[in-house]
Amino acid sequence: MTLDLESAIQTIASWLRESRCAMAFTGAGISTESGIPDFRSPGGVWSKNRTVYFEEFLNSEEDRYEYWRQKSQTHVEFEAAAPNVAHQVLAKWEEDEKLTGIVTQNIDGLHQAAGSQNVLELHGTAREIACLSCHQRWAADPWVQQFLKKDRVPDCPDCQGLLKHATVSFGQSLSSETLEASSELAKQADLCFALGSSLVVYPAAAVPELAKSSGARLVIINNTETPLDSMADIVLRHPLGESLSMIHDAFSNLS
Ligand SMILES: [Zn+2]
Repeated sequence: MTLDLESAIQTIASWLRESRCAMAFTGAGISTESGIPDFRSPGGVWSKNRTVYFEEFLNSEEDRYEYWRQKSQTHVEFEAAAPNVAHQVLAKWEEDEKLTGIVTQNIDGLHQAAGSQNVLELHGTAREIACLSCHQRWAADPWVQQFLKKDRVPDCPDCQGLLKHATVSFGQSLSSETLEASSELAKQADLCFALGSSLVVYPAAAVPELAKSSGARLVIINNTETPLDSMADIVLRHPLGESLSMIHDAFSNLS
């Protein structure tokens, strides 16, 4: 559907009002307005650092050190970042029982920081460290500080297992539990917002696709084209924070 911005916003707000089960799917684009660089973009982490694959992490002390070195760098960016208006609008919609949940590709924890409760993190979270053996978890910050101070990769205080950020590394499988819960959410949704994601990374991008094919309306807001644009009900190329604020205002005026 091709609409001018104002009509599109009004239409989306009326869909939100009608909706009984809306969900959001979010990618890096929702966090760039919080100052977290999209790690795929030029100048992003991926272009500066070599990738440490999960297999390498498991098998080489040197690679574990490199992993921790890189993660400690990006940790500083994550710690400094605060949720922006887009995160806040989604948290508000959940509080008002308009939004059932969020499936995110992001590992920055900003949805939770904004107050969202039902957040499914497909790629894990950089806010926590997990033991690969006993699966205990801790807040990431003290471990990163310890690494920076001692310049040595820490191991689990309980079982001496390997400690790694609770994110999904290259070559590591996504949690089947999280994937399943995301699919369930998508199947039940009658309205799906795909926000700030180029929708090219699978299986993540299958979530909004599944929502659409299960009968939901699909609204895509992203600054570049996505492969799902042709199946979307509305596509907006407008800054995310501003778009969601406008939808929220239009929605509040309807209610
Ligand atoms: Zn352990």
